[in-house]
Amino acid sequence: MIQFRNVTLEYPSTHTLALDNLNVEIGDGEFVYLVGHSGAGKSSFMNLILKRALPTKGEVMLAGQPLSYYRGRRTHLLRRRMGMVFQENLLLDHLNAYDNVAFALRVVGVPQREWPQRVTVALRTVGLEHKKYALPMQLSLGEQQRVAIARAIVTDPPLLLADEPTGNLDPDNSREVLKVLQNVHLRGTTVIVATHARDLVETFRHRTLTLRRGKLVRDEHLGGYAL
Ligand code: ADP
Repeated sequence: MIQFRNVTLEYPSTHTLALDNLNVEIGDGEFVYLVGHSGAGKSSFMNLILKRALPTKGEVMLAGQPLSYYRGRRTHLLRRRMGMVFQENLLLDHLNAYDNVAFALRVVGVPQREWPQRVTVALRTVGLEHKKYALPMQLSLGEQQRVAIARAIVTDPPLLLADEPTGNLDPDNSREVLKVLQNVHLRGTTVIVATHARDLVETFRHRTLTLRRGKLVRDEHLGGYAL
């Protein structure tokens, strides 16, 4: 699904080598953690997949196509292949859970008659079908993050990227969010989670990539956290 081929990313403003000749492949339907200290290059890794940054050297491939293929009018094809979840859930305060999730369908032009069924399935996947009329302020932070995950998956992207998705959550809510990400994975979605949450990585074991100063120093298929 995703391939990094000799990928280097240098930020010219500071001459920082954020990623240093990275080679890694993530297959269809994998669940992968990306771990490492602050500054190790996790966000840079995500930003390259999202095409928010371009490699200084090398190539990032998605489904066999270099990301450079997705230019201009093809950019929307790239966005449709990826759902994103961040530390901040970025829900719209004035919309209830249902409308927040439906919003993603509106953006990509899904016909309105399909919305109820698709939103219901997405909210069910995150265990919040019963909260569909709740506004974000009526939900816990963990529930809000689960709505954000529903919004990210309602368009059925083959890839879900989660950047510190439990960064603002207490341990109980963090575990709930991890379980939801695992449910998404069970639907067949490839899931990449950048995280600092050592306890989660130890508890819910999946392939773990460890970055250190921009280099991939560990690729542990049985999971677990070691820095
Ligand atoms: P992480 O997500 O693991 O904390 P980042 O990918 O954000 O790591 O950062 C990797 C390195 O690149 C760090 O040294 C950071 O200071 C640097 N960096 C990140 N973004 C920028 C930027 N926009 N401009 C210059 N340097 C950056």
